[in-house]
Amino acid sequence: MRYYLSKIKADDDTWEIHTVNCRHLPNENDQRIYLGDFTHCIHALPVAKLYFRTLRFCPECSLLA
Ligand SMILES: [Zn+2]
Repeated sequence: MRYYLSKIKADDDTWEIHTVNCRHLPNENDQRIYLGDFTHCIHALPVAKLYFRTLRFCPECSLLA
């Protein structure tokens, strides 16, 4: 599964990690960062931490993937 980081900050000052198919992931490439292709969302976390400090997995897509 391919994982992306949304560059749109959520209300609670976190940035969300999404799968490529998630409806919450911005469509525009300048509003998201490609993290990589991983077997589980947990592997996307170290990559996402290179960009932002406060992160969370999208409850709708990442935790199910
Ligand atoms: Zn999502």
